[in-house]
Amino acid sequence: MQDSLDYKRILSAVPHAVAVVRALRNQDGKIVDCAVEFTNISFLSFTRNEIVTGGTYSSFIDRLPKDVAFLEICEEVIRTGYKVTKTFLSSKTGRWVQLIVTGLSDDLIVGELSDVSHEKQLEQVIQRQDIRNMKLTEELSLTRNEMRTKLGSIQALNQQLHYAAFHDGLTNIFNRAWFNRVLAGIKTPGAFPEDVERDANGDEIVVKNFGLLLLDVDNLKNFNDAGGHSSGDEVLRKMGKILHGFENERITAFRFEGDEFILLAKNISSREEMSLLGYKLIQTANQQEIGLSGGISIYPEDSANADDMLKFADMAKSDVKKNGKNNIYFFKQVMEDRFLRKMLIESKLDAAMKKDLFQLYFQPQFDVASGALRGFEALLRWHDDDLGWISPDQFIPLAEESRQVVPLGQWVMDTALSTLARWEREFGFEGILSVNVSPVQLKSPDFLDKLKEGIEKYGIKNEHLEVEITEGIFIDNVQETVRKLNTIREMGIGISLDDFGTGYSALRYLQILPLTTLKIDKSFISNIDEENGVEANITESIVSMVSKMGLDTIAEGVENDSQLDVLKKINCHNVQGYLKGKPMPTDLCDRMLAGDSSAILTVKNVTPENS
Ligand code: C2E
Ligand code: CA
Ligand code: CA
Repeated sequence: MQDSLDYKRILSAVPHAVAVVRALRNQDGKIVDCAVEFTNISFLSFTRNEIVTGGTYSSFIDRLPKDVAFLEICEEVIRTGYKVTKTFLSSKTGRWVQLIVTGLSDDLIVGELSDVSHEKQLEQVIQRQDIRNMKLTEELSLTRNEMRTKLGSIQALNQQLHYAAFHDGLTNIFNRAWFNRVLAGIKTPGAFPEDVERDANGDEIVVKNFGLLLLDVDNLKNFNDAGGHSSGDEVLRKMGKILHGFENERITAFRFEGDEFILLAKNISSREEMSLLGYKLIQTANQQEIGLSGGISIYPEDSANADDMLKFADMAKSDVKKNGKNNIYFFKQVMEDRFLRKMLIESKLDAAMKKDLFQLYFQPQFDVASGALRGFEALLRWHDDDLGWISPDQFIPLAEESRQVVPLGQWVMDTALSTLARWEREFGFEGILSVNVSPVQLKSPDFLDKLKEGIEKYGIKNEHLEVEITEGIFIDNVQETVRKLNTIREMGIGISLDDFGTGYSALRYLQILPLTTLKIDKSFISNIDEENGVEANITESIVSMVSKMGLDTIAEGVENDSQLDVLKKINCHNVQGYLKGKPMPTDLCDRMLAGDSSAILTVKNVTPENS
């Protein structure tokens, strides 16, 4: 048989455990032949001889595990012509075996057995690995969830930190740090990409301009004094709420520091928009009994430098405070000019003292009834080569701030005492020389020692000296100041209260202080001659009252005859003013004291050269 020859040739060559079986339907078949390898399959325990000499079908099947169902497999292969594969575990060897059955012809079948333990093991390993992988995946997804929760809480924490870092704890509105960041973002676009604001289309909103309103709560100190610190906090909290009510996508509110707040309005349409905003804000605050002083600066109209905006708004706000508070001003260039001049003055003060650039002028005071000279008030003068004459109204407050007024006042006192001593000596001067003493100077610990030193050095008559003080001494440590003033008074030196009628002007000061003289401020005197004006009446009451207390009275700033007439009528003792005599340098005073009646500057005789 051709076919049997063929498979015999093949079988002798294949290295696999292959056997050819003649399957006879419903009968026990016969193993026709097999490859050498076939006999090596240990669990079959066939010898080649056994097979070739008639290894039977059933004896082969018997050696297979029960569940292999070899017969059915063969039938299926013969019927369909398809190959059937079956894998089983040999209980005898404990190995996995694969049986592949293929049809060769109508009644011949080829069976191939192979040990697939290794593959099976691999499969199992892979399966186990799969299970492990599944577990791992499960674990991973669990940890991923956990991570997500953790990340969520970290994000929440970050948000809280961000909130705390950029919000004010008391008012819950943005704080100074956030303001600085917003400003930095405007100065350098893209500096904080995470802060970039976008419109409804997602396009970046570019800040073309902004209005900055810097606000200050008026008299917060009074709220604190009246109701303790918490009541001040209450006001600030209210302010936070009010400002928050003004916030929208363009307007942001900040608590800058203390009682200072900021409203920043981006991309405003006009200055009017800002003033309307400020006006509404003041109105709202006033309804809740809060007064506000504010200044507005506009970028880039006022300056192309965003850093200037705060400074400019502050300058405008300072002007509001000077002019009675509860109002809002726009920044104007003159404010910066004034500010720069102030800085310049401050920087020049020290050098001016060292270079001896200060001078003392003297303004005469006259007895109203007799017209006789009462004495002089010493007034500081400073001429600077660049700035010209600088008014003491400008530089004294600066010198007070920096405490330079202490050595400067010391110089004034020394110069005044030496001049007084010379006048006593040369002209037999019996009048009074008034010297202004700043509260800061009076409070300096060695004021009394220095005063005594000077008096001893120049040997003046104490009753010729008068110290002019202002209500500024009441700012703190009043008892100590009053003690000092008592000592001065005990030394026989006069004490005059300056600028009465401005500031608080409480009458109780007159009782607390050991005064000898009261100077009625020129703001009263300037209107004293007006018909139906209240000033004349008030001045009359003051004069009559303090005269009864034994005090001398001086009207300041008397500029015309009608004022002088009224003062005469109401029995004010003395006058000082341009009408009778302007402040003069010592050489003119010397001539005047020597009896030269032309040696006096008044509003009437002043010429362009000596004005
Ligand atoms: P003050 O003590 O009230 O001095 C009076 C001021 O009124 C002086 O201004 C004087 O020149 C001015 N004055 C006098 N008569 C008239 C008048 O008829 N009309 C007008 N409009 N003004 C008149 P001055 O010299 O510019 O001094 C300004 C302020 O500077 C002084 O006001 C005083 O507070 C302060 N000051 C001046 N010298 C000294 C000083 O040596 N020490 C201290 N601590 N302060 C001084
Ligand atoms: Ca004075
Ligand atoms: Ca005065």
